[in-house]
Amino acid sequence: MTRLVLARLNHETNSFSPVKTPLAAFAPKWGGEAQAAAGNYPAAIGAFHAFARRIGAEIEVPLVAHAMPSGPVEDDAFEAMAQAILAAVEKGCDGILLDLHGAMVTRSHDDGEGELLRRIRAAAPGVPIGVALDLHGNITQAMLDHCDVIVGFKTYPHVDMVETGEHVARLFEPLLYGAPRPAMALCHPPMLAATLCMNTTTDCAMADLIALARQAEARPGVQAVTVFGGFPISDLAETGLSIVSVADTPELAREVARELGREAWRRRAEYVYAEEPLPQSIARAAALADGSAPVLLLDHGDNCMSGGSCDVMDVLEELLAAGHDGIMVGPIADPQTVARLFAAGEGAEAEIALGNKTPAEGLPAPRPPLRLKGRVAALSDGRYRVAGPIYHGQELSMGRAAAFDTGVARIVICEQPHEPLDLGCFACLGLDAARARFLHLKSRMYCRPVFEPLAKAVVECASSGVTASDYQLFAFKKLARPIYPLDLGTTWHD
Ligand SMILES: [Zn+2]
Repeated sequence: MTRLVLARLNHETNSFSPVKTPLAAFAPKWGGEAQAAAGNYPAAIGAFHAFARRIGAEIEVPLVAHAMPSGPVEDDAFEAMAQAILAAVEKGCDGILLDLHGAMVTRSHDDGEGELLRRIRAAAPGVPIGVALDLHGNITQAMLDHCDVIVGFKTYPHVDMVETGEHVARLFEPLLYGAPRPAMALCHPPMLAATLCMNTTTDCAMADLIALARQAEARPGVQAVTVFGGFPISDLAETGLSIVSVADTPELAREVARELGREAWRRRAEYVYAEEPLPQSIARAAALADGSAPVLLLDHGDNCMSGGSCDVMDVLEELLAAGHDGIMVGPIADPQTVARLFAAGEGAEAEIALGNKTPAEGLPAPRPPLRLKGRVAALSDGRYRVAGPIYHGQELSMGRAAAFDTGVARIVICEQPHEPLDLGCFACLGLDAARARFLHLKSRMYCRPVFEPLAKAVVECASSGVTASDYQLFAFKKLARPIYPLDLGTTWHD
């Protein structure tokens, strides 16, 4: 009987994020629990599981693990998870299917996936390995060298995770029965593409390039073509946009990858996010605000879901400096201030030094904390049940939380970075976010399903946090230079 090992290990690493990534951040499921989780999982691992069942394989799932974007993965976490997969592989198997990200950096390995695949291939030489990756993967030659098939998502927001797994399984299946290995090629023009320029639901260069990839997949002999946008703030030599093709011959794989690489490079200026200066964004928000519904101010420089510390005060500071009121903000992660407000007690007047307390290596030092006078309006354990569509029905916790009222701004301050997925993070402190004139959130994408429908308008705001779109702010150590647009004179002749 065919024996397959399936696993999911998924992390998008922001090398500059001060948010730690220990094993617990992955909430890893092992063995039987992982096996149970893999069936119907709404990502590539679910498709792998369905495929393995369809062919009547004996299935082992040693690991299903996913962590939110944050800093480099701790070594003991990576070793424990890699070891679980290796132990299953070393028992002997006929094939391996992996649901990975492609932008995982660990404390000791810049190319987390490349290292994992290298170990797996060494443990099972000759055994076919199929890999599904995220569109934001930074692809390395090591990844290609140590597996047989790579396919990545073609959508962002990612709505084709299962389809991508199915695509991998389709190309992988013949390998189980001795078909020749396909050829893979990587083309990596020296360019960083901004995450905010990759939204494939909009009319943009990225969407056009992915359309070309789909067309190329229809050519005889071409098995898969993926445009990887890359994750720019994951600092390794190979960071950036790349194309990976899978084809019957090395010549064809190379030709297709280069063709798309050249097209990406030709339109490189369209992958640079034109950042609006913050004072302009605030002025634009003020012009839109008529009090009928909140104007959303989304801080894309300190975005929780990309490893932001959620304590950068630039946007609030600018709002206050411009003399606005009716402001609601949250959640700001500042455990010191939470402790101080709990000590003061509900109803107490307090003076606080808020945020700007999380220095990040490779970025300018934070500005001084924001000094504010106000009243402790409410205290809470920071738990609430989600009424919105993402994680519907689940109870979430942001650590202990306080509502601080300065008269012109009401601010949710909590102990942990927390994505505002739902109104509950305000309501658990008695605040009605829908009544704010300006609603400032540490989010750029995942708050939208709940907050956008109740907003008057959305204004994206730049700040100096670790998820800034101005990549000139970051002191990259590993990134291969020159690279466009950091080095504007970069040339490339493939
Ligand atoms: Zn992604």
